[in-house]
Amino acid sequence: MIAKELQDEVYNCIKCGLCLTPCPVYQQLFYEGASPRGKVQLIKKVLEGRLQPSEHFHRLLFTCLLCETCTVNCPSGLKVDRLMKAMRAEILDQFGLAWQKRMLFHLLTGTRLLPFFLFWGRTVGNSLLSLLPKGGKVGTIPYPKLPRLNAKPFRNQYPEVISAPGRKGRVLYFTGCATNYLFEDVGRAVIQVLTHLGIEVILPRDQVCCGLPIFLSGARQMALKNMKKNLGLFNRPDVDAVIVDCATCGAALKKEYSHILEEMGEDGGAAESLGKKVVDISSYLSRFNLEKWAGPVRERVTYHDPCHLLRSQGVKEEPRSLLKRIPGLEFVEMAGADVCCGGGGTFQWEHPEIASGISANKVRAIKETQATIVATGCPGCRLQIHGNLGEEKIRVAHPVEILAKALP
Ligand code: SF4
Ligand code: SF4
Repeated sequence: MIAKELQDEVYNCIKCGLCLTPCPVYQQLFYEGASPRGKVQLIKKVLEGRLQPSEHFHRLLFTCLLCETCTVNCPSGLKVDRLMKAMRAEILDQFGLAWQKRMLFHLLTGTRLLPFFLFWGRTVGNSLLSLLPKGGKVGTIPYPKLPRLNAKPFRNQYPEVISAPGRKGRVLYFTGCATNYLFEDVGRAVIQVLTHLGIEVILPRDQVCCGLPIFLSGARQMALKNMKKNLGLFNRPDVDAVIVDCATCGAALKKEYSHILEEMGEDGGAAESLGKKVVDISSYLSRFNLEKWAGPVRERVTYHDPCHLLRSQGVKEEPRSLLKRIPGLEFVEMAGADVCCGGGGTFQWEHPEIASGISANKVRAIKETQATIVATGCPGCRLQIHGNLGEEKIRVAHPVEILAKALP
């Protein structure tokens, strides 16, 4: 059952349409059902019992990136994205999950299956990737542009406590699945920079997937075990902050856990106290005096705002300020840096035509900057942008990877 106060929000919609033009999906499809306003009106009819949820309604509800652009543009303050997330959960039993999602979510919530698949993925999968047909794609991402699995999970490459000489602080590090299994260089950069600054890093080995891809698909009950496990590990009073290098995991830990637990009628107290400690790595690092030690990095860098960092967590200036303070680095702002890249987690393989249209705009804006690197703090955006850059030589990197290059 959708929480009463969320249900009541539908009556605040004045149908002004201010959410239409900024919506990246509407900009591709140009029909009312694809717009946030259209979806809110359909949800209203379903909640009032005047419309039965149909296959088409279900499809429209998932024709959305959950980028939150509509929410931040709504003059009536409607939490459009929360309404859609709650409705997805509401109709899960009727429509179920696609088998691919069911399989993926079982992997992410199980403790035995994932290591088994990863072992075989590393042993044979990485080499098989190069044999796949060049023209084939996963959604909009060509096979050759898919990332390789880390040779060893990132969290197994370090001790659980990584001490720093002359300790000045202590943080917990939530690595997320992307750093743990795909982008180990991001994790290494996080640890190098933090320990250089005298920050002790605790890397809880038993942390699990944040669960966000699972509960955004409506499968809240399935994600509950992961949420509770992470809350037990990270809601600790003896650390200064909980550092996250992935915008999506950050959004989950910072605000989605408490919203969802509250909407499920569970106790959200622990999630709320954890949320106050969660800090994106770029925000955390922007507090330090980097000028004292940073060496030159001679690159032209532009920055893409991940939706889960900008709109979900309100982080905009910090990654930019971090990059601009690196000596020798030339920062150039791209047009529409705050517009979604078209990835949207599973959106890009469920709706490749819509996603590729949105990504094409992003790629055009990146090329216009003539940057050598696109910085972004979200592995999903990284995959989507890299996958759609074509033959361009532009690299995609996390801001902390660029900063790590400036270490003495
Ligand atoms: S901006 Fe808000 S009030 Fe206006 S149509 Fe969209 S959801 Fe309704
Ligand atoms: S969340 Fe994003 S894609 Fe979905 S309706 Fe709102 S603006 Fe459009």
